[in-house]
Amino acid sequence: MTVNYSKSLTPLYVYPKICKYTDKIDEAEKFVSPLNYLDTEINEELLIYIHIPFCKNLCLYCAYYKEQTNKYSEKEINTLVNYFIDELRLYSKYNFFSNKKVKAIQFGGGTPSDISTELIAKLISAIHKYFDTSECKFIGLEGNASSLNELDRLIKLKSYGVTKISFGIQTFNETIRKKLNINAKVEDIYETMDKIKKAGIHQIAVDIMYNLPDQNQEQLLNDIKNCIALRPEYIDLYGLNIFPNTYFKNIIDERKVFDEFPDDKKNIEYYQMAKKVLLDSGYNQSMVFTFTRNGLESSIYERLFFSANVLGIGPSARSYLNGLNFRNYSTIEDYRRYISKLILPIECGNYASEDEKADRKTVFFPNLLKYSKQNDYEKWKEHFAFLIKEGLVKESADAFELTDEGCIWPGNISRLFFSNLQIEKHNSSFFESVVRNDNPYNQDKMGIMINKNNTKYE
Ligand code: SF4
Repeated sequence: MTVNYSKSLTPLYVYPKICKYTDKIDEAEKFVSPLNYLDTEINEELLIYIHIPFCKNLCLYCAYYKEQTNKYSEKEINTLVNYFIDELRLYSKYNFFSNKKVKAIQFGGGTPSDISTELIAKLISAIHKYFDTSECKFIGLEGNASSLNELDRLIKLKSYGVTKISFGIQTFNETIRKKLNINAKVEDIYETMDKIKKAGIHQIAVDIMYNLPDQNQEQLLNDIKNCIALRPEYIDLYGLNIFPNTYFKNIIDERKVFDEFPDDKKNIEYYQMAKKVLLDSGYNQSMVFTFTRNGLESSIYERLFFSANVLGIGPSARSYLNGLNFRNYSTIEDYRRYISKLILPIECGNYASEDEKADRKTVFFPNLLKYSKQNDYEKWKEHFAFLIKEGLVKESADAFELTDEGCIWPGNISRLFFSNLQIEKHNSSFFESVVRNDNPYNQDKMGIMINKNNTKYE
């Protein structure tokens, strides 16, 4: 057993791996047929995730699936939201959901705040209509500082039940923001914070990125201090990820736009520094990259994401329903081709084996910092002994916990718990994406450079 210390790998959010080339689904209805049966085997909690695939502006570093909002008419966006409602309705008919209680709803993207609040309201009422939301106390919405700074809209969102708003700050440095094509201005960040608080939404989460091109330690320190001064309840740290074949990677490699460049050493040093400043300022580490104020734990959305049934709606959304592990078509075009005929728009997926279902707990534990000994850990005794010897994990009476050193290598530790089959699949899927000039993150074409003139695929 060895840990690959050459590069701190990204944390894992999907297990087992879904690979477009080997897990292609031909008949979606047949694939989801196990949902016809009432599932009483595991917990009844359900998280519904809605992927709104629009952004006014495309930030250079972003690998999530999204399209530029202004390329779509209001009518097309309305129609797409109606398709999302069709998708919700189609799933609600399956017996599987009859004993599931929606505990949390999350709008992600893309930029959900870039579509009208009326459309968000429409989606929320469809969820109330088709699913049991009697125990849902959480509705989270991700947004952008350039479209969250209107008090009226925020008050409306609160009245529809939105309890948490997240938005990306990334950096307070205007020059870096401009080079990265982030459209919100620094003044929008302050205005947005102020308006969200005025609207009475008390759970605010912001993202800060480290290891950005042109960012030095001093600038990052400044970003963290400015961020703390805003007193958000949650601060998420994101290390920059540069994917092979992408337009962004090409710009970095060409060395024309930026003067200083991200590297693996900085990635570790900057994370450690940011973490120390946050802890010294009274923030608590609730997940490996999430820091919370006032002793808060991470939100129910994050907890459910790794442990409950997740139903993902919209292009590129992923679902995990007691072992049914799948992803929708990534592009709006493909998505609507299927859903307009009332066919579930599933592109690829697989059934997790009983071992893989159980292994998700160990694979995901580094994200959550802790692995409870209430889990059956007999199978992993040697792994934990090894991690303790390496100084990456410490043992307490009731759990195994990441050490400070372990927090640097969460993705690498997760991969130790992969089955041989999953290691092989993970590697070959990544390799194949690179060879086929796809984005390995979602195996779509987002951000991919397609011609010699270095223009983006759009
Ligand atoms: S980082 Fe956010 S706002 Fe920027 S392109 Fe990605 S999803 Fe859109």
